[in-house]
Amino acid sequence: MNKKCSKYEGLFIFADEKTLNEHVQNCEECKKEHEKFERVSELLQEVKPLYKKKKTNINLAIKAACALAIIFTGTMSFDILDAKYSIVDTFKYGQAISIEDIGFPVDSYGLLMVD
Ligand SMILES: [Zn+2]
Repeated sequence: MNKKCSKYEGLFIFADEKTLNEHVQNCEECKKEHEKFERVSELLQEVKPLYKKKKTNINLAIKAACALAIIFTGTMSFDILDAKYSIVDTFKYGQAISIEDIGFPVDSYGLLMVD
């Protein structure tokens, strides 16, 4: 056989295991390819525990990134809302309920007075 067989990849992806094995038994080229793949497969089994450990770290990193994204987005939307409705100003200049409204003694800054 001087023509390189290119069926292995196609069979591996699209055919079932039986069809793949049958072809591998009858084709030298694919047999070699298959053996190579088996070796890689074994290697993967060996490094799997290490990979899993690494994956956990990646998951943590993704979670951290999501948390940061949520915080960032939350801050951004608060800023936008604040620009629109002056939320901070309402709190600063006392249109919201203050300590004084509740009935505590306050100084001229609206802060709780402690003698
Ligand atoms: Zn083949």
